[in-house]
Amino acid sequence: MTDRAPEKGHLIVPVEAVDRDAMASSIAEFLTAAGLPDAARSGAPQKTAEAWAEVLLAGYREDPTTILGQSWPDQTGELVTMLSVPFVSVCEHHLLPFYGEAHLAYLPDGQLTGLSRLAALVDCLARRLQVQERLTEQLVDVVMDSLQPKGAACVLEAVHDCVGARTLQHRGSRVQTVAYRGEFRDNSGLQDRLLRLVMGGGVASQ
Ligand code: ZN
Repeated sequence: MTDRAPEKGHLIVPVEAVDRDAMASSIAEFLTAAGLPDAARSGAPQKTAEAWAEVLLAGYREDPTTILGQSWPDQTGELVTMLSVPFVSVCEHHLLPFYGEAHLAYLPDGQLTGLSRLAALVDCLARRLQVQERLTEQLVDVVMDSLQPKGAACVLEAVHDCVGARTLQHRGSRVQTVAYRGEFRDNSGLQDRLLRLVMGGGVASQ
């Protein structure tokens, strides 16, 4: 997971490219093909299209590279952590949700960003077709590119419906992925500090 994963698909999808009626009619076709013509004629296709356009794929409407744009000077150089940011994403292999919590940390090199901006970044990159490993890498890469800190880390913990819904005995299994950049890569003390905070539920900033 050390190589930067290439972005699959588009970074930004313009609103006008999203055709909700076409989405709804293709969902109706899908239901018909599944032998469920009554469901195809119900309100389900329209509601499903809305949920995908408004929530599950809404992250494509924002450019993640501009979200942390506003920063201000930091004098302390102290580790900043933002823990337990809830997110929902969609597994690109099965088109089923995976969801959980994102934990972000960075060691500033003169620049700070708002904690709400970090949460907005999680939202923007999660509400897309993703795989958890790539989402983890993208989050930490945007933090590095936007704030140029001495180091950054991202830990994601998630439950995947494509695992739990298909195999009942795996229901609730959590997948953890981690990405380190800069000083986090080789500093096991820094890594331990973050993981202790993550496991302990942590505090907003330490
Ligand atoms: Zn999947």
